[in-house]
Amino acid sequence: MNKKIIITILILIAAVAVGIYILSVTPHIVLNGESEVEVTMKDGYSEPGAVAKFSFKDISSHIEIDSKVNDSKVGTYTVTYTVTYLGKTDSAVRTVNVVDKEPPEITLEGGDSISIRPGQKFSEPGYRAVDDSDGDVTSTVFRKGIVDVSNKGSYVLTYEATDSYGNHGAVTRKVKVEGEPVKQEKGTIYLTFDDGPSLSSTPEILDILKKYKIHGTFFIINYGDDKNKLAIVKRAIKEGNTVALHSYSHDYSRIYKSSDVFMDNLKQLHDKLKNDTGYEAFCMRFPGGSSNTISKNYCSGIMTELAGKVQEEGYLYNDWNVDSTDASGNNVPADRLIASVKKECSKNTFNVVLMHDTDAKATTVKALPEIIEWGLEEGYSFKAITKDSPTFHHRINN
Ligand code: ZN
Repeated sequence: MNKKIIITILILIAAVAVGIYILSVTPHIVLNGESEVEVTMKDGYSEPGAVAKFSFKDISSHIEIDSKVNDSKVGTYTVTYTVTYLGKTDSAVRTVNVVDKEPPEITLEGGDSISIRPGQKFSEPGYRAVDDSDGDVTSTVFRKGIVDVSNKGSYVLTYEATDSYGNHGAVTRKVKVEGEPVKQEKGTIYLTFDDGPSLSSTPEILDILKKYKIHGTFFIINYGDDKNKLAIVKRAIKEGNTVALHSYSHDYSRIYKSSDVFMDNLKQLHDKLKNDTGYEAFCMRFPGGSSNTISKNYCSGIMTELAGKVQEEGYLYNDWNVDSTDASGNNVPADRLIASVKKECSKNTFNVVLMHDTDAKATTVKALPEIIEWGLEEGYSFKAITKDSPTFHHRINN
């Protein structure tokens, strides 16, 4: 045979072979990493990618990735890798399991170390638990441990929270029972009057207290340059009542702007009172009580901070456990105020009664004699708050 014909036939055979080979080759995807992976919500998912080849040619740049992964939510997701080359397609799938291994985070209101006096009631200052997948899991918190308020010592309370994936978080709080024991003061009534002094109500209240030979506690706000109001404050002190601090003003948006602003305001009122009267205030009450939920609108978490700060500054802070309800409106009928105090007072504990001595609280003045007469007949004793008095704290909620 002619050499040329042989070469031509060989070339044709080679061309057909190459053609058959090309027709038989398909693109091929290989995943980087495992085809099933587990990632935590905390670490998140980062795409390891894949490589694709067409015979020996790298065609990875042709890969299209379709990822359904939402790594901020627990679940099983797929990532599909598709490559198309010369009209041929290959694909591969990776399964991604997003899991939650993070325990809930627990925040303790009032700090991780608190101190109370022997005999003082321990009231749980509160806690919050937040989980990255479940959100608020405060309702799962379980508190372990006891505080024996009758024995000095250091007690540890453990707070545990669980999320729906079984992750446990725990924090501890140390409660020190130390210092001078508080007087039990069972059956004592502490009448407290907020928001004064008022030129109308406060002198009448002082008259009534004097008449029954008892004392009360006045949580005042700034009386400014008003000499008549100052005279009332001086009279309250002179007659053996306790004058305590409420705040410089009652404007929540101003006083609860920050803990520094609040503490600065408190100091201003303290110093003003001391300059004007020589009296050193040792007790305070937060406007709205330590349980108020308004302050957080101006500064989140401020009550937790303030409850610690005022005590560090040496103040006792007192909320109330008996509400006369005179803040529920102006001129709440005296009968209703009397009924409320009678209902809430208890002989088994001390009673801090919330009342107000502003101009608008005429019915509080009207109700007061009957409340006192009832209390005295029932065997209660009326006292002003002193440095040795037990304190009643609300649960902080901010
Ligand atoms: Zn007030």
